[in-house]
Amino acid sequence: MSTATTPTPEAGTARRSPRLGHAVGLSCRECGTSCGLGPHYACAACFGPLEVRYRLPRLSRSGIESGPPNMWRYAPLLPVPPDIAARPTTEPGYTRLVRADNLARALGMRRLWIKDDRGNPTHSFKDRVVAVALAAATELGFTVLACPSTGNLANAVAAAAARAGIRSVVLVPADLEPQKIILTGVYGGTLVTVDGSYDDVNRLASELAGEHEDWAFVNVNVRPFYAEGSKTLGFEIAEQLGWRLPDQVVVPIASGAQLVKVDKGFGELASLGLVPATPWRVFGAQASGCAPVSAAFAAGHDTVRPVRPETIAKSLAIGDPADGPYALDVVRRTGGVIADVGDREIVDSMRLLAATEGIFGETAGGVTLGVVRKLLAAGQLDPGAETVIINSGDGLKTLDAVTAAADGPPPIKPTLEAFTERYAGRTVS
Ligand SMILES: *Cc1c(COP(=O)(O)O)cnc(C)c1O
Ligand SMILES: [Zn+2]
Repeated sequence: MSTATTPTPEAGTARRSPRLGHAVGLSCRECGTSCGLGPHYACAACFGPLEVRYRLPRLSRSGIESGPPNMWRYAPLLPVPPDIAARPTTEPGYTRLVRADNLARALGMRRLWIKDDRGNPTHSFKDRVVAVALAAATELGFTVLACPSTGNLANAVAAAAARAGIRSVVLVPADLEPQKIILTGVYGGTLVTVDGSYDDVNRLASELAGEHEDWAFVNVNVRPFYAEGSKTLGFEIAEQLGWRLPDQVVVPIASGAQLVKVDKGFGELASLGLVPATPWRVFGAQASGCAPVSAAFAAGHDTVRPVRPETIAKSLAIGDPADGPYALDVVRRTGGVIADVGDREIVDSMRLLAATEGIFGETAGGVTLGVVRKLLAAGQLDPGAETVIINSGDGLKTLDAVTAAADGPPPIKPTLEAFTERYAGRTVS
């Protein structure tokens, strides 16, 4: 059952083969070697990352539409037990796809949408990936849910574990936004702050995963299952557009998994005949203070040289992104571009999104919109093509980035005179 390279939890070895829906095995993304479904994440032959393989079922649009109003409507396309919707999960997904006409007008675009993943239970897209990781981990016999995190993942893991009634251990860099640390602690798991960067925290997590065989580190030792959760972003965008694919989709990049899986989601829907197989282009967005994938794209490289992050977009601050090379593949194959923007443009775009559409996204949302503006200016994004921007998190978690905007004029006395004296004859702003 177990391979030489990946530890198997004791409980897992004694169990029947895992019930993970239509998933049939794992295969190496580098050399194609397959292995059975299990707690494996590295290829036994070449140490390459593993990917879930399926025998995809026949599905109908109406079957999906009559499913639960959360990501489990796509359970047949995920490595989860068939009864997942009846289990205690945080029920993420099926977030709003918002038609952004005001923003489109401001940018000179024709048809623009925001996929607003603030609507998830802990206010970021991470609830999607954690839900799949937890379901698979439970099925594989793990008993503790753990992760290294840049903040949002910690929130999602702690909440999902609380709801499922299992223990959680999350590790975060000590210099994270205070809001994100508070939001993790409140769910009651073990919260470990580490004096180091995310990449240091990630290394520690890998060592701990070797020590504690019953701990599922969602983005380390059950990563192949975790990553599949991001496909639901692609599925939902297509369903919410009326069962068709957008021409362009713009996705933030931290590890690069979200971008890769949005593309995979579109591809699965097309191959199942659920959407017309029209071409789509995938664009990637990074912060200039942590832009290793953008740099590799610009240089024409296939591999990503790690960097030391220095940006306000902490949720995207992964200096050594595991899926960077695969994100490069997807973007090049579909004819997109990867670019980056600096902290000032990030904040400016957070404000633009809020002021045009009433959507207060986190710094990651500012990165994505900032890159859209940059690519439009450079003529690299088609303003006439239907475009979806992913807003992956909530501005309330990164308030510090915009606190200067709250430094307005001093308060007035509660009288008409005082109001008129200050604001008469001009727009209140
Ligand atoms: C983690 C995260 C991302 C990107 O995730 P990857 O799959 O690692 O690229 C994007 N936005 C937010 C808000 C995140 O927390
Ligand atoms: Zn391999």
